[in-house]
Amino acid sequence: MSKGNIGVTSANIFPVIKKFLYSDHEIFLRELVSNAVDATQKLKTLAAVGDFKGELGDLTVRVAIDKKKGTLTISDRGIGMTADEIDKYINQIAFSGAEEFLEKYKDDAQAIIGHFGLGFYSSFMVSKKVEIFTQSYQENTTGQHWSCKGDPEYTLEDTIKADRGTDIVLHIDNENKDFLEESKIQELLSKYCKFLPIEIAFGKKKEWKDGKNVETDQDNIINNTNPAWTRKPADLKDEDYDAFYHELMPMGEDPLFHIHLNVDYPFNLTGILYFPKIKNNIDMQRNKIQLYCNQVYVTDHVENIVPEYLTLLHGVIDSPDIPLNVSRSYLQSDANVKKISSHITKKVADRLSEIFKADRAAFEEKWDNLKLFIQYGMLSDEKFYERAEKFALLKNVDGKYFTFEEYKTLVGENQKDKNGDVIYLYANSTDEQFSYIQHAQDKGYDVLIMDGQLDVHVVSQLEQKFEKTRFVRVDSDVIDKIIEKDDTPKVALSNDQRDAMVTVFESQIPKMDKTNFIVTFEQLAPTSNPVFVTQNEFMRRMKDMSALQGGGGMMSFYGEMPDSYNLVVNTAHPIIEKLLTDEETACGPEVAPIATEISEVKNKHDKLKDSHKGKKDEEIPSEEKSELEDLQKKIDELTVNKKAILKSFAGETKQVRQLIDLALLANNMLKGEALANFVKRSVELL
Ligand code: ADP
Repeated sequence: MSKGNIGVTSANIFPVIKKFLYSDHEIFLRELVSNAVDATQKLKTLAAVGDFKGELGDLTVRVAIDKKKGTLTISDRGIGMTADEIDKYINQIAFSGAEEFLEKYKDDAQAIIGHFGLGFYSSFMVSKKVEIFTQSYQENTTGQHWSCKGDPEYTLEDTIKADRGTDIVLHIDNENKDFLEESKIQELLSKYCKFLPIEIAFGKKKEWKDGKNVETDQDNIINNTNPAWTRKPADLKDEDYDAFYHELMPMGEDPLFHIHLNVDYPFNLTGILYFPKIKNNIDMQRNKIQLYCNQVYVTDHVENIVPEYLTLLHGVIDSPDIPLNVSRSYLQSDANVKKISSHITKKVADRLSEIFKADRAAFEEKWDNLKLFIQYGMLSDEKFYERAEKFALLKNVDGKYFTFEEYKTLVGENQKDKNGDVIYLYANSTDEQFSYIQHAQDKGYDVLIMDGQLDVHVVSQLEQKFEKTRFVRVDSDVIDKIIEKDDTPKVALSNDQRDAMVTVFESQIPKMDKTNFIVTFEQLAPTSNPVFVTQNEFMRRMKDMSALQGGGGMMSFYGEMPDSYNLVVNTAHPIIEKLLTDEETACGPEVAPIATEISEVKNKHDKLKDSHKGKKDEEIPSEEKSELEDLQKKIDELTVNKKAILKSFAGETKQVRQLIDLALLANNMLKGEALANFVKRSVELL
């Protein structure tokens, strides 16, 4: 038996392993199982080239727990190690520059293990003692037993091990007893070892028999040694891809389609990416791409390896060329990683374009699920935009799909306003904006549906990309104002009539929290609604964005503003025409003398004010100053009187409130008590 100190050059690694590698403890299992797999594959290679002539036999790697002894054992029938090899590969660890590196990456066990080739030593993260029992495949060698209790001292002695290969026995320490639980190990094996290329057995398969789970004599194999991404695309059918998807995502719905990645130059990369069905909520969908290195699971955080919007895809990427023994932030600047990232982007765009060209109908059918993903890509990656603008679709409220080009052809002339701007009309709810959509369609216009999570941003982006094009939501104004043509008729109201109608309507608008209304007039078709509610496009969009971003600054300023709506009165509608005559008949006799008086007083006031022009304040006699004040008071008083008459008319004329309520109702703004009152009033009016 020999004794010795593990040859670390500048520090004792054990405190490091225990202290610094506190996160990611569990990866020790991956490290040990992949060592076992490597040893097995080496033996297979030796056999293939004729350097090993013995029987390969059963090459299954076995993982076993012995709760009584408190051990976890990983056994393989691979090449094993001679005493010299143990000395070389286990006892001597290159460990220079360690402290500095450790300080920097103390939270990143992955980087540390990768950097120092500490795979085997990661077992000390969870063990108070580790033993190796090994027998090399080479003839005339003796079995070896290595043992170490987590300090630099180890023992190495000859032993008799009947079977070729290596058993690594971990004596699990008290703080890590959960690694002796079957469920825990099962979970870790399926996380890290699910697709390793050599069969891994963990205990025996269980069967439900006579009301309890009993072990069968069949090995419980936890991995698929031949996952779809390692196979040739030509050998796989759509069903195989779908089946593999469910292996990755047992709970997932069928994916929309897949992309098989297969590159060997200038870097090595295989993998399969799937487009999942994403309707909404991007944030829920991330971290569903798993990164492997030669079928060994590394991580499901691929943010720095693929562009952000591609993290919405599901699937696997396997590449030995992604440097894993570096910090995550370094990854982004790595030349290989950059190439990989842009390769994947191109592949994804090509595949979408291919499906679009080959089967437009199928593409349209999938669009609603694809859209969030494609829009996200277009918004965040100019290169992707350039590729996607040929197959990205716009959908109208009737469920028809158009490419950007097709849509321009459809509305380019018809929806051009008098300034030459093309107006793209959109709605974000066919229910809520139903009547506005109908008005637009009655005019022969087309209305897009923009109801997705990213559509607010998409609208802004497309406005910037398309020339002389504006997107306007159908309810942001009356349709003839949204798309203003040369022949828009003018409103024929005198100032007095206008003032009177403003008072009549304003006085009947119900009070709503954080909501303002401005009464405006339009000369629309007599067949159009008598009264509408519209909301200014710019303000609404700012508010929408502020709601999405939830951030501070300018956006939250918009968020705090009250909602401002227009109450548009259609002066060409017979009901409004009649209301105007009714108002004049009812209020005229009382209002006319007041109006005359107001204008007389106002005349006086203005004349006096004019005579003060150019004079300094102290040059104006104080009697004249107080006369001015009195005149103004008089005007205010008369105005209040005039308004009171109009308001009382408005209050008695149930029609006014009815018209307003109908407009609110069409805009989904009539709720609660106001709605109940409306129903009651409607019944009374019948
Ligand atoms: P790495 O695997 O990164 O080289 P490890 O510390 O995990 O670093 O292993 C060191 C070396 O020990 C391996 O390269 C291999 O030569 C040897 N080794 C480890 N485990 C086994 C095993 N189960 N069978 C044979 N050799 C092994």
